[in-house]
Amino acid sequence: MNYTRRTWLTAAGAVGFSAALTHCGGSDPLAPTAADPASSGLADAQRSRTSTPRTVSSTTGRVVVVGGGMAGLAAAKYLRLWGGTGVQVTLVERNPSYTSNILSNLVLTGQRTLSSLVYSYATVKQNYGVDIRQGTVVGIDPIRRRVTLADNSTLDYDRLIVAPGVVFDVLPGLESDAARSKVVHAWQAGPETATLRNQLLAMPTGGTFVMTIPKSPYRCPPGPYERACVVADWLKRNKPGSKVIVLDANGDIQAERHTFDTAFRGLFAGVVEYVPNAGVISIDAAQTRISVNSQMGTVVGDVVNAIPPQRAGKVLLDNRLVSADARWASVNAATFESTLAAGVHVIGDSCSAGIPKAGHIGNQEGKTAADAILRAFRGLAPDTDLVVNSACYSPITASTASWLTAVYQYDTVTSSYKMVGTAPSEATSPTSDGYSEMNTWFATLMGETFA
Ligand SMILES: Cc1cc2nc3c(=O)[nH]c(=O)nc-3n(C[C@H](O)[C@H](O)[C@H](O)COP(=O)(O)OP(=O)(O)OC[C@H]3O[C@@H](n4cnc5c(N)ncnc54)[C@H](O)[C@@H]3O)c2cc1C
Repeated sequence: MNYTRRTWLTAAGAVGFSAALTHCGGSDPLAPTAADPASSGLADAQRSRTSTPRTVSSTTGRVVVVGGGMAGLAAAKYLRLWGGTGVQVTLVERNPSYTSNILSNLVLTGQRTLSSLVYSYATVKQNYGVDIRQGTVVGIDPIRRRVTLADNSTLDYDRLIVAPGVVFDVLPGLESDAARSKVVHAWQAGPETATLRNQLLAMPTGGTFVMTIPKSPYRCPPGPYERACVVADWLKRNKPGSKVIVLDANGDIQAERHTFDTAFRGLFAGVVEYVPNAGVISIDAAQTRISVNSQMGTVVGDVVNAIPPQRAGKVLLDNRLVSADARWASVNAATFESTLAAGVHVIGDSCSAGIPKAGHIGNQEGKTAADAILRAFRGLAPDTDLVVNSACYSPITASTASWLTAVYQYDTVTSSYKMVGTAPSEATSPTSDGYSEMNTWFATLMGETFA
């Protein structure tokens, strides 16, 4: 091959995502750096982008990918793009189309529609020859290298990629369907997002919106704080006198601390009340009342939005491919191969690799796993000279957004098999330019994954 892993990760991961590269994760320093992503080394690397890697059709092998989200679809596409026609790729996805979580907080405020976040699998099927099957994988047999679908059909593989996203714990008090239909999390874009939007519309002027944040790690570290901001901004304009109470099980803001702390204390002073160390004890859905293990005791809202703790996708839990904590799948981040089952690679939010659970980085995990598998098919050792970046924008108001970016490198020093991060850079303040860059970044990321 005429490219290195570092070259293609930089090219395909960084370049594709517009001028600004920001972050969906990690703990950050309180003070921002003044660095603009456009002037960072990543942007320089973008300019030295190489052409699309050439197709090597002599590579052969069968890969099954479970889950056509941000990570799984990127892996499937790049296996064919880089592996050529000798690599058979079958992607099994339970839904006929994909709804992006990214920017779904803007559905709550009416700035986006859910339908604007829906993506089709048709282009990747047509342009790259990925065999897309609608179905649900229920069984994984790493010894026979075979998966079983819910309809009892089976698929044999040489390598398996599992990218099923997350499942949500049931919070105490929300055991019944009726309770969960009243207190939604909307942390998976879809019907719950529409429900939460309707609940906000129905909220009385001067009312209270209460949201909970689970202990880290969870999907998209800045996402809950972003939600608090855009909801507060919308309430300020549409339901004056209303409040947003943020009950955070963590001791502090988990990402973009400068941005959110400044927004909560400044722009949204008197609107947002941020309560750290407030884990949920129980929720009374009928009374929209939450008990937390902090001095707050019990909090009553007009709308309660409870984001539960999360864990790896059900198919990984059911097939015992998660660590002893029964939450995440442990992988070697150079290849994303499971530490429990040879030939099984776990990518995206389900894995534990030392990097944040985010769509931008899931896309790069897909490419990393694809490269590692193609190397294995060619009899080559994995490349451990590996650098990825994490990026996302956070809308703060209806017209401004902030950004954060971080770079992670494969740890070859302590043999942790994980990625280690550099200090993230964060926008000094949310701006309208940031908002328009956010839309460009999002369109590029989704195009890079789905087209
Ligand atoms: C409100 C919100 C805002 C966010 N904002 C950002 C952001 O700004 N930037 C960013 O980078 N990230 C953001 N994220 C995070 C991002 O959405 C996730 O990290 C990303 O979607 C994870 O990708 P994934 O492929 O692991 O999972 P998913 O994208 O959830 O895809 C998993 C897929 O697997 C399928 N599946 C599951 N089990 C099976 C099975 N057994 N058989 C077949 N198919 C199966 C599912 O149907 C789904 O399509 C945000 C998340 C939320 C909730």
